[in-house]
Amino acid sequence: MIYLDNSATTRQYEEVTELLCHMGKEEFGNPSSLHTLGFAAANTLSAARAQVAAQLPPGGTVVFTSCGTESDNAAIFSAVRKRKRRGNRVITSQVEHPAVLEACRRLEEEGIEVIYLKPDEDGVVSLRELEEAVNEETILVTLMAVNNEVGAIEPVLPAADFLKAFNKRHGTEILLHTDAVQAFGKLALGNVPADMISLSGHKIHAPKGVGALFLRKGLTLPAHIVGGGQEGNLRSGTENTGGIAGFGLAAELAHKDRARKMRQMAEVSEYLRKGLMESLSEVRCNGPEASGESMTEYGKRCPSVLNLSFAGTRGEVLLHTLEQDGIFVSTGSACSSHKTGDSHVLRAMGRSHKEIEGAVRFSFSEFNTIAEMDEVIDRVTAAVKRFRRLGSFR
Ligand code: PLP
Repeated sequence: MIYLDNSATTRQYEEVTELLCHMGKEEFGNPSSLHTLGFAAANTLSAARAQVAAQLPPGGTVVFTSCGTESDNAAIFSAVRKRKRRGNRVITSQVEHPAVLEACRRLEEEGIEVIYLKPDEDGVVSLRELEEAVNEETILVTLMAVNNEVGAIEPVLPAADFLKAFNKRHGTEILLHTDAVQAFGKLALGNVPADMISLSGHKIHAPKGVGALFLRKGLTLPAHIVGGGQEGNLRSGTENTGGIAGFGLAAELAHKDRARKMRQMAEVSEYLRKGLMESLSEVRCNGPEASGESMTEYGKRCPSVLNLSFAGTRGEVLLHTLEQDGIFVSTGSACSSHKTGDSHVLRAMGRSHKEIEGAVRFSFSEFNTIAEMDEVIDRVTAAVKRFRRLGSFR
């Protein structure tokens, strides 16, 4: 099997799977219980919190959630609730994940004005447009770190600088949220001065059903789930101790030797991009061609994602053809594939209907190799040439 759908989800690290089995069998206590099993579970939670926090800006709070979607919803709704007396404008982009876009649509229904910034043709949001959209009515900016469909590294760092200066000049307290679900474990986030950062476990070889919302030092938010007061009163509900322990371990493992793993991922994705563009005509890269390995390289592509449109081909048919050879890819984000099948990201980038139809996303993990890419280049090239000969998709 050659698995190239790592932006949809990843295979768990072996060590994480072992830990989960151990937790289920031996350390199954409720962290709120007042006996030794409960204390052991509470200690495990603290250790996992420290493992995740070690990869984020110092001094903040890590609140465990059930997934990236919950983290995005919590950040947006709680931030707006906290700031709603100060203004009525929220700014986001057209290329966000549905977890952000749908939350923003809900805000609009409630009377909030939401501005959706348009990206350039590589999927990168314009800083200038953001600067023009921010006014004294603005209470929240939510801008993703890495786009899940095309890999563009978004200008979160300069946006944070701009908002800091704007807040100082105008006495506003605009909050900045970043959905870093696709960035975490790949790009270092320790220096990202966002107020809130969303993370998800299953994108970094942890299990599904666990995520986190990071709050910068000193920021408190109203609870988005009320009940027994777990997670510092921010997110009630008995903690998913196994998942959280697995997320903590995965965060540590993903960041071990991160720079080397990123270089390898960049080599692998570059090899595939060049290989396919050389062996086939009419292939268009959706997203920046050049890869970047840090949040400072906004405007470039995080090497974990490569999105290509093959003229004369339908991405979905290519996906199923490759699947028969044990190669797993996707046509866009897992979340949009069940709805219209159309990609709001590629549409916002100005791609034609044919280009969107012919798009395939290859997404990588630290486990992919150049040898695998040779196989993928051969199989994709053969399949696309066959489709073009048949001519049925022209
Ligand atoms: N945000 C981004 C950028 C994503 O790619 C995803 C998942 O694909 C999510 C949020 C949602 O994360 P989860 O699947 O953990 O709810």
